[in-house]
Amino acid sequence: LERTFSIIKPDATNRNLTGAVNAVIEKAGLRIVAQKRIRMTQEQAETFYAVHKERPFFGELVSFMVSAPVVVQVLEGENAIAKYREVMGATNPANAADGTIRKLYALSVGENSVHGSDAPETARIEIAQFFAGNEIA
Ligand code: ATP
Ligand code: MG
Repeated sequence: LERTFSIIKPDATNRNLTGAVNAVIEKAGLRIVAQKRIRMTQEQAETFYAVHKERPFFGELVSFMVSAPVVVQVLEGENAIAKYREVMGATNPANAADGTIRKLYALSVGENSVHGSDAPETARIEIAQFFAGNEIA
């Protein structure tokens, strides 16, 4: 089984949608094997999104991610990385397919409710940034 890293972002936690997002995740056959609600620090958010640091939206993205609590998660399942990206839907909710988390809940391309890893190596790095091995079960 594969693992992926997920974040339920501030726009979703602010609207009390943690359970609603988790219901979509579980209905898709992904298992939540680790989960915690945290307030990300500026440094954690900058490290997490370092790959985007030259993009024009980087500052806005980091301030959004630290603006309210997030729920960080490890999801496990068959092809979990690709499956979760399918369940999330397109980055811009205007382009997201029906039934996806972003179509259902996202507010905009920036405030788009969830993050999911895009490849096995990034999944490993992202999981290790937020979870110790013994927190995943
Ligand atoms: P994520 O990495 O969060 O799973 P993604 O892979 O679909 O989303 P990326 O291109 O990696 O999208 O962008 C990372 C995040 O940066 C997006 O989820 C979104 O919150 C933000 N973002 C991307 N494009 C824009 C934009 N044009 N304007 C504002 N924010 C953006
Ligand atoms: Mg991405």
